[in-house]
Amino acid sequence: MNFERLKIMPEEKEKLAIPNETIQISSKLQKHGFEAFLVGGCVRDILSGKEPKDWDLTTNAKPKEIQKIFPNSFYENSFGTVGVKTESENPTLAVIEITPYRLEEKYTDKRHPDKVKFTDKLEDDLARRDFTINAIALSIKNENPKDYEIVDPFNGQKDLKHGIIRAVGDANERFNEDALRIIRAIRFVSEFNFSIEDKTKESLRNNADLLKLISKERIRDEFAKTINSDSPDVGLEIMRELGILKHVLPELEEGWGVTQNKEHIYTVWEHNIRALKHAAENKWPLKIRLSALLHDVGKPRTKKGEGHDSTFYGHDVVGGKITAQALKRLKFPNKIIEDVAKLVRWHLFFSDTEVITLSAVKRIIRHVGEENIWNLMKVRYCDRVGMSRPKERPFRLRKYESMIEEALRSPLSVTQLTVNGEDVIKIAKIEPGPKVGYILHILLEEVIEDESLNNREYQEKRVEELNRLDEKELQKMGEYAKNVKQAIEQKEVETIRKKYFVR
Ligand code: ATP
Ligand code: MG
Repeated sequence: MNFERLKIMPEEKEKLAIPNETIQISSKLQKHGFEAFLVGGCVRDILSGKEPKDWDLTTNAKPKEIQKIFPNSFYENSFGTVGVKTESENPTLAVIEITPYRLEEKYTDKRHPDKVKFTDKLEDDLARRDFTINAIALSIKNENPKDYEIVDPFNGQKDLKHGIIRAVGDANERFNEDALRIIRAIRFVSEFNFSIEDKTKESLRNNADLLKLISKERIRDEFAKTINSDSPDVGLEIMRELGILKHVLPELEEGWGVTQNKEHIYTVWEHNIRALKHAAENKWPLKIRLSALLHDVGKPRTKKGEGHDSTFYGHDVVGGKITAQALKRLKFPNKIIEDVAKLVRWHLFFSDTEVITLSAVKRIIRHVGEENIWNLMKVRYCDRVGMSRPKERPFRLRKYESMIEEALRSPLSVTQLTVNGEDVIKIAKIEPGPKVGYILHILLEEVIEDESLNNREYQEKRVEELNRLDEKELQKMGEYAKNVKQAIEQKEVETIRKKYFVR
């Protein structure tokens, strides 16, 4: 028994944190003579001490009756759900969904129930839900959150305590009714690091192929939640083991058992998964998680040779293409596809700071885009940790980061002035020559001291003044101003380097 998990169960009723909006809406339904129960994810989450993502209520009232009670409501979808708008500024409470007790009948296409039928019995509604931990209902009495009743005909609380995902009723039937439940099972495994009860697991294995019937968008949503969870590595291992992954991301499975050369102790598959795990441990966003997971996806197809001599030339380019195809097939948004494909394509960037120059760093920034350069570094850390290299950033990577900051820094330049060289030539009525540069640098030095001087009126007057100075004097001032600028820049670069503990 996992005592850690037991500990998160509230021991006293006080621990239930149910927001007032929810209590008020339940109470209103009850005052009109209807039953009202919190149900699904929110009950599961409050019982395990987590903050629910949304609050769902279920009731024996029918949609029309619900709408009558709540003038501030709207019909949400074809499942009879009525959304009630609240005053809350908290986005998870702005709309509370009320769904009448429902039965689900036949699923001829294995995706959608043929029609929605309402029922008067809460137990019937709970029976149509996917997993026992999602089939618990909780009703608040007398507007007092400490006074509540739990209806749990499938022993969901026990499974929640023990960390078990178990289908409600006959697993085979349930996955046959709606095959999305197959990937939802994996999502809950990853979100809570739960294990799957044996019969449910066997049934997942036997029914995995039903995923073929499910729309890519629905799969994508559950898959993205899996990747974004705390233990996506656990979910992916089970997906592969049960034959689910081949319906979602078969490209990744190609790395299973593919050994690498002597620098690597892990197979391509293990390495990709470990890289993802590092991204999850750091709670990095989806983009980085997907890039970490897919960064070596091109290796199996580019492998040449065996054992310690194997090579994977071009796996970055091939990997970038495979990534774009795979994410497109899963109908991820274009921006995600583009960015992840870029991060995979450039993950091998050469980072030997003994050899590379600032312009090489600038080139990489151009390839992935400024907004992605720090993401690329994160993918590199995932790659390193995924090889069981130390987590500490070695000098080389810190130096590289410092070079990125240097490259991104906008240098002090006379182009920032309101007047340019041509203006100076016109105002001072002089020929192009070193004098123009001296004047501009003097103006720049003044603007560095006092930004308000960067205006046309002042600078036109100042150009005339400076132009009247003796040539030697102007040269001296101009050169001094240039030195000031260089010193400031030097200092900026030093500050950056100090930040990364590099020289
Ligand atoms: P989350 O906290 O991520 O929202 P959730 O469990 O609330 O998780 P939802 O997709 O919001 O997941 O679904 C709400 C509830 O509806 C579930 O808890 C479950 O009881 C039920 N449910 C959702 N999808 C299905 C399904 N495909 N088959 C059966 N029941 C489902
Ligand atoms: Mg939910």
